[in-house]
Amino acid sequence: MMTQYLALKAEAGDCLLFYRMGDFFELFFEDAKLAAQVLDIALTSRGEHLGVPIPMCGVPVHSAEGYLARLIKAGCRVAIAEQVETPEEAKKRGGSKALVARDIVRFVTAGTLTEEALLEPRRANVLAAVCEVRGTCAIAACDISTGRMELEECPPERLGAALARLGASELVAPEGWDDAPAEAFPRPSRDFASEAGEARLKAVHGVATLDGFGQFSRALLAAAGGLIAYLDHAGRGKLPLLLPPVIVGASAHLAMDEATRASLEILVSSQGGRKGSLVEAVDRCVTGAGARQLAEDLAAPLTDRAAIEERLALVAWLHGDALLRGDLRAVLRAAPDVGRALGRIVAGRGSPRDLGQLRDGLSEARRIHDHLLHRADRPALLDRLLPSLSGHGALVDHLTRALVPSPPTERGQGGYIAEGYDAALDELRRISGDARRAIAALEAKYRDQTGIAALKVRHNGVLGYFIEVPAGRADALMMPDSGFTHRQTMAGAVRFNALALHEEASRIAEAGGHALAAEEAHFEEMIALAIAARQSIAATAAALARIDVAAGLAERAAEGGWCPPQVVDEPCLAITGGRHPVVEAALAAKGERFVANDCTLLPDDRLWLVGGPNMGGKSTFLRQNALIVLLAQAGSFVPAEAARVGLVDRLFSRVGASDNLARGRSTFMVEMVETAAILAQASERSFVILDEVGRGTSTYDGLALAWAVVEAVHGVNRCRCLFATHYHELARLADSCEALSLHHVRAREWKGDLVLLHEVAEGPADRSYGLAVAKLAGVPAPVVARAKAVLERLEKGRAETGGLAAGLGDLPLFAAAAEARADLVDTLRERLKGLDVDALSPREALDLLYDLKREAGAEG
Ligand code: ADP
Repeated sequence: MMTQYLALKAEAGDCLLFYRMGDFFELFFEDAKLAAQVLDIALTSRGEHLGVPIPMCGVPVHSAEGYLARLIKAGCRVAIAEQVETPEEAKKRGGSKALVARDIVRFVTAGTLTEEALLEPRRANVLAAVCEVRGTCAIAACDISTGRMELEECPPERLGAALARLGASELVAPEGWDDAPAEAFPRPSRDFASEAGEARLKAVHGVATLDGFGQFSRALLAAAGGLIAYLDHAGRGKLPLLLPPVIVGASAHLAMDEATRASLEILVSSQGGRKGSLVEAVDRCVTGAGARQLAEDLAAPLTDRAAIEERLALVAWLHGDALLRGDLRAVLRAAPDVGRALGRIVAGRGSPRDLGQLRDGLSEARRIHDHLLHRADRPALLDRLLPSLSGHGALVDHLTRALVPSPPTERGQGGYIAEGYDAALDELRRISGDARRAIAALEAKYRDQTGIAALKVRHNGVLGYFIEVPAGRADALMMPDSGFTHRQTMAGAVRFNALALHEEASRIAEAGGHALAAEEAHFEEMIALAIAARQSIAATAAALARIDVAAGLAERAAEGGWCPPQVVDEPCLAITGGRHPVVEAALAAKGERFVANDCTLLPDDRLWLVGGPNMGGKSTFLRQNALIVLLAQAGSFVPAEAARVGLVDRLFSRVGASDNLARGRSTFMVEMVETAAILAQASERSFVILDEVGRGTSTYDGLALAWAVVEAVHGVNRCRCLFATHYHELARLADSCEALSLHHVRAREWKGDLVLLHEVAEGPADRSYGLAVAKLAGVPAPVVARAKAVLERLEKGRAETGGLAAGLGDLPLFAAAAEARADLVDTLRERLKGLDVDALSPREALDLLYDLKREAGAEG
């Protein structure tokens, strides 16, 4: 056995090998140690190999899915080795000692799952292959649970952003490629040959030329080839559902890199889950497929105005008709996940239940079709979707006649083909039904005959049907002429057979066997029909998802009072009464109100510096505007009273280093790498939000960098930008940068307490309120008082030297202003020089401060 195991293990490579033994999948050696740890199950041992006990652990076959899910989540890959012959076949082949033949039937990896239990219903599961051909990168991606396949080409420096959009759960790349993404799993480079890729694509779709699907470059073909080769490997020659590939143009989507996605918390929040993310705040879809489509839309907003407006028109239509929306959502809510059922069927893992889901889903689609057909005022997008919702009449009819109302997931027991569909099958069922009744009658007869009231006819997997009597009453049946044959003696009972029982049991077995075979044949036929119609079924699933997304967005807009954005070509961003959907929801949950804010970026006022105290709402303001752009271009209404959004080509969001968790590199280094990316990539059509950039280093460095970055963004990139900062000194930039204006989040001190108004107003921030924020945060009063004293001295120092940005006076623009103040501080300086600061009590310091102030006032 070990020889067979080791050969399979060699084939499985670095996958964990699930080795089927009866009702268990067993793991051995290092696999067992790892799996026992991840799954928290007992590690035992079995036999010896090279003189040491072999570590072993196992999971029951019937509950293997749950264990698989946990292993995959933990980043493992699993090879499943099944018994490919029965023990009887093995004996026939090689005698009584023959080992049952086993083979790896499938590799289970994060990107190749189709099982309902292993997939998250509201998230797409993407597998991607990447490669580089002559300086161009290409990505082939698919979601095999629904068959969608997408190809994209990009220059190497954009690869990160393109992959970030896809959010693949598994990535493969040719081995030996130096610039392969770190998380990619290496595959033989011959899989990525473009000729082979072309041949594979043609074979999958049964076409002689790919022209009908679009123009494919060498790089695209290579990536597609790598993807299909990997699927072929993982499925051991059985390919999953793949729809014709869609080529995505690099400029078709609003570009956002990984850091931007993370900072805007689009699909996952900073806590790492869906909770607190944008998608959670927006998603009102009633189907899993709708939720997956919405997540995809938010991850890849559009850049084509017509396409955006088309989506918006459908949302607006459903927004305007609450009754229709409610009806549609009720029907959709009840419809099963057609796309994923189809995915399992094409992958060869379909069940009667999946066929039932197709039947129900497709007939619901038809109902929606008929419902919408009578509406004269349909928006264009709906008009295009409508034909996809019907046209499965023959298939639905077939499935309806053939299947019972709720077919089972397992087909081993049969019973899923409806009565009346196949007369021969009904007859077989009648025979076994009769036989069952006959057996029940036999029990009564045998009781009578033997006079043993406790006699029972029972059934188990080993003996089949048998007669059981208590041990004490067995003697009569043991007699040679009793008509009963002894089969088994148990502790308290003895088991017998009888001719009549045997006959009826054989009838059941025979009829049952034939019935199962008949059901199986019908099943295969229906599967073949579904596979033949896979493209149009997938189109129906996609149309249902698109309608659900639009209805969900309309619902969300109605719920939150969102408005339809006006999408325009000029580079502007004019938002009235904008809100942050996630923060607003979080506040609402606590019964607090969100303060709406305006934002008006125009070509001649395109960069806003936003100052104000910590916790004042700067980050929230920045992000809400980025999210409004993102939502608008994804085709959604936006949380505002009115919004005019000039199309954005790339969106960047950066948060100063100290807000970020360490990611291996020094956080300041990360901040600078990300800032460099913006300066290199942002165009006049881009929108950038920068939050406290420069604070990850010393004050001087930070201010200097922030200063230079603002100047560059203003003068070179010329993009729309919101820049939050606590450096007051940056306010001076308003003098030199004509399209830059100053804003701040308002705060007031009221009876010694700080009140944050979360209101964005024009003009520079008057002061930073750092100590007030500290007090608000619960820093003990004596510490705050001490800090106040220190601050006063620091500020005195600042007054003397001209402050942190004093040197900036040397920059030509500020020279004049600095001179005017130069002599003012001289006498004060003399007094200050003579002071022994440490000898002062806080009280004396305060008195002195009044004194100095008076003096300064007298001089001024
Ligand atoms: P900053 O970036 O200025 O430090 P944040 O944007 O992080 O401030 O906001 C701090 C907190 O203030 C938020 O968590 C939120 O609870 C609250 N807040 C921010 N903006 C608003 C607003 N417009 N209306 C109401 N509360 C807000």
